Amino acid sequence: MEGRLRQSKSKASATADESSSLKASDAVSLPVYLTNAFFFTVFFSVVYFLLLRWREKIRNSTPLHVVSLSDIGAIVTFVASFIYLVGFFGIGFVQSIIIPRAPDEEDEFEQVMVKEDSPKLPCAAAPKSDDDILKICKKIEVSADDEEIIKSVVEGKIPSYALESKLGDCRRAAAIRREALQRNTGKSLEGLPLEGLDYESILGQCCEMPVGYVQIPVGIAGPLLLDECEYSVPMATTEGCLVASTNRGCKAIYASGGATSSLYRDAMTRAPVVRFGSAKRAAELKLFLEDPLNFETLSLVFNSSSRFGRLQSIKCAVAGKNLYIRFSCSTGDAMGMNMVSKGVQNTLDFLTNQFPDMDVMGISGNYCSDKKPAAVNWIEGRGKSVVCEAVIQGDIVNKVLKTDVASLVELNMLKNLTGSAVAGALGGFNAHASNIVSAIYIATGQDPAQNIESSHCITMMEAVNDGKDLHVSVTMPCIEVGTVGGGTQLASQSACLNLLGVKGANKEAPGSNARLLATIVAGSVLAGELSLMSAIAAGQLVKSHMKYNRSNKDVANIKS
Ligand code: ADP
Repeated sequence: MEGRLRQSKSKASATADESSSLKASDAVSLPVYLTNAFFFTVFFSVVYFLLLRWREKIRNSTPLHVVSLSDIGAIVTFVASFIYLVGFFGIGFVQSIIIPRAPDEEDEFEQVMVKEDSPKLPCAAAPKSDDDILKICKKIEVSADDEEIIKSVVEGKIPSYALESKLGDCRRAAAIRREALQRNTGKSLEGLPLEGLDYESILGQCCEMPVGYVQIPVGIAGPLLLDECEYSVPMATTEGCLVASTNRGCKAIYASGGATSSLYRDAMTRAPVVRFGSAKRAAELKLFLEDPLNFETLSLVFNSSSRFGRLQSIKCAVAGKNLYIRFSCSTGDAMGMNMVSKGVQNTLDFLTNQFPDMDVMGISGNYCSDKKPAAVNWIEGRGKSVVCEAVIQGDIVNKVLKTDVASLVELNMLKNLTGSAVAGALGGFNAHASNIVSAIYIATGQDPAQNIESSHCITMMEAVNDGKDLHVSVTMPCIEVGTVGGGTQLASQSACLNLLGVKGANKEAPGSNARLLATIVAGSVLAGELSLMSAIAAGQLVKSHMKYNRSNKDVANIKS
């Protein structure tokens, strides 16, 4: 709708532009070259005729002001054709002298791009004639068939979302949608790649209405020596310093003999909200669901929805007449949101028979709690709960991390524990766990929005071995990862999983790939925490960020 409005606006402005540059030739419905030839012929014929008549009058000594009917006709025709020719050629000629040279095609394209990208003009003031739009889109070649479809999408005759099903070709659908989008908005998507993505692989699973994909560089930190295995950790990020810093942490861990991890809980959660006529009934259901005698029946019902989803526990919270039921279940190698939701739906259907007065208000009542900071996750855990530790020798702290054990322990107490307590943090008792979590999540096809609870982490540091060495640990109760489903099956993300040796489902021991990935995330966070804390303790943070995280251009601008 908006697109169509914009288009009619742009048509109106194009009409305004046209009317302001009307030429005399437009008055005659003939091709311009014929009109011009006609007026040239008339003009020169009339001039010839008038010159002949002038010579004749001089020879006969007839006064020049004595004119016949044919003379008057010739003079009128002369004036008319003169006005036409001056109007057509003269104004353009004068303008070409006064106004600077019109830009050539390439310049014009550049100029439109600059104009389009310029933030100075408010959107409404940006010129959007059909010509401008064509100039923006001119570098893209489209077939005649596609051109028809693009026009239909622009005019709203074909809905953009229906292109894949209509064409049966996902890449072509993306190209057409992209072109229609550029025409509708008058904004160029140059720089956002179209080629290089398998559009069939995202259909119905990863992204709707695609027009391209964003490129994010992937760097490698490592080797991370964790539980006696080495891992090269892929990190997708645009934050300079991050990979280098994590790499330095890995180096310190490696030199100290490696880190050790323990996964002590593995359960995805979903919590529907149900309502009764009285608070008493809500409390009755809570007692029923939490009674160990009912667990076997409930788990039979729950587990029937999947080969991998296995109910582990049910925990309920009463709020007046409402009950929030937090189901926890293991989900194999899947992150598990779909799996747990199916099990929950089965169980709710079963409960409706037992509690016919129960109203299911929503399959998710936020007591789960997905993609939002919530104490229930921090305290109870969600996904995989992992603790990872290492002892870093004092000389490694000095040589690799450029600081000392006492400074690190003191800074950890002041920053990650006391500072976060002062700030009222919820699960944020760390330096930058979310940096490492997000980068690995994006590289390996996890849901990046789950970074919120997955980054809950408490970093502990203490001096051991008579104060010579550093014991460091990260405890992360909510690492939500999978190696099947969602974005994990896409080519580049699955290549990163492959690098870590956790690609796809583990046939021998379902769930062990996802659990291993969770420990690698925790191990990498341990490395990241060590390195950033050391940089802060040694006062290197600003210096290294100026070196790696600022472009030279920005620095130059600041200086000037
Ligand atoms: P999620 O629950 O994380 O959204 P999906 O339900 O989309 O994941 O993907 C999991 C799918 O993969 C299910 O259909 C499941 O049966 C299948 N699957 C195959 N092998 C495994 C495995 N080892 N662990 C978990 N799921 C598996």
